[in-house]
Amino acid sequence: MFIFDVHLDLSMNAMEWNRDLRLPVSEIREREKGMTDKPDRGNNTVSFPAMREGHVGLCVATQIARYVKKNNPLPGWHSQHQAWAQTQGQLAWYKAMENEGEMVQITDLGGLDNHLQLWQSEKEHKPIGYILSLEGADSIVDMGYLERSYEAGLRAIGPAHYGPGIYAHGTDSVGGIGAKGRELLKKIEELNLILDATHLCDMSFWETMTAYNGPVWASHSLCRKFVDHNRQFTDEQLKELIQREAVIGMVLDAWMMVPNWVRRKSDPKAMGVSLEIMADNIDHICQLAGNTNHVGIGTDLDGGFGTEQGPYDVDTIADLQKIPELLSKRGYTASDIENITSQNYLNFLRRVWG
Ligand SMILES: [Zn+2]
Repeated sequence: MFIFDVHLDLSMNAMEWNRDLRLPVSEIREREKGMTDKPDRGNNTVSFPAMREGHVGLCVATQIARYVKKNNPLPGWHSQHQAWAQTQGQLAWYKAMENEGEMVQITDLGGLDNHLQLWQSEKEHKPIGYILSLEGADSIVDMGYLERSYEAGLRAIGPAHYGPGIYAHGTDSVGGIGAKGRELLKKIEELNLILDATHLCDMSFWETMTAYNGPVWASHSLCRKFVDHNRQFTDEQLKELIQREAVIGMVLDAWMMVPNWVRRKSDPKAMGVSLEIMADNIDHICQLAGNTNHVGIGTDLDGGFGTEQGPYDVDTIADLQKIPELLSKRGYTASDIENITSQNYLNFLRRVWG
């Protein structure tokens, strides 16, 4: 079954983790043996061959670079201009992958339809389609930069990531969006970009919902009902998103799936972290919505963690193919399952780009 994963940090893996994603996962792991600079060394789950094996033919792929003020302890760049340059390096890698026929950038309905058709064909070595997104908007020095990003294919944007940002407050911080945030939202509407509500802290989330009238989705988020953390959506937030015709992408990061996860200590199997937990979150959102139209897949499987912090039944991203059977066992119909694995987000794009 064709899968649309709406959150992968592919270029971050290429440029900061130094992973050549053209290689099989096993080869990338092999080369990282003995490395300790990142917690997920030797445990990666995403590469192009694994995506092809799992029929993950389309994704939303990020550019990501944070700006940090003097007293901000999070890792990040010391100026917005440096953050911008980092995202441009990431873009250069996507372009190089396009040149190799490994990827193809999707920016409009024509491109989307061509790509979906290609993936129905028997062609060998199909390119992975990607829709360019910016996770955290700190690298946008001013609105002229956002226009340039749009020209380069950017189609979705999350105002904040972790901590206080230039345009909004993100996960684990508290605060609103301010004048700069409002200016950004206006420009997002003007360009018909998709606003990504993931990572907005509660105050910034609600201020955004008041100020913003354009299309909104949440690329990688779960329910606060199951894990009580500000990174997760409350039922009120989920209802607001549903009412705005948003689709919410299900993440496979263990600490968001079960309570009391301790990074670098907890074990997925011991903590019962499996794709069933993702299905619990899907169930909950479908119950709130009264239908299966508002939930999709946004795994974040390469977002700074690997098998050490993911579901124990996911060795590589190809294991997303287990989702249809798992949902079918819970009583979801074939068309429900198709909604969740790709159609809801595809319909969203058709609506916004149509
Ligand atoms: Zn994220």
